[in-house]
Amino acid sequence: MTCEELRLYFEERDDESGLDGGVIAEHIATCHDCARIAEDQRQLVNSLRMVRESVDATSESLDAAVVRN
Ligand SMILES: [Zn+2]
Repeated sequence: MTCEELRLYFEERDDESGLDGGVIAEHIATCHDCARIAEDQRQLVNSLRMVRESVDATSESLDAAVVRN
């Protein structure tokens, strides 16, 4: 796998690309630049999930407030 292939995978999130996680992990283990990209992506995914969870929590408490009233 090349750096370019890995970057395309992260940019396009192309699940049909046939790349498997082992190949990606192997490249990241030996390539500092791609390791950094992977880390950025991981943090992005984490923060998106946190935003989604806080939105869910807000709408749940709104629902509860509506039910109480
Ligand atoms: Zn690389």
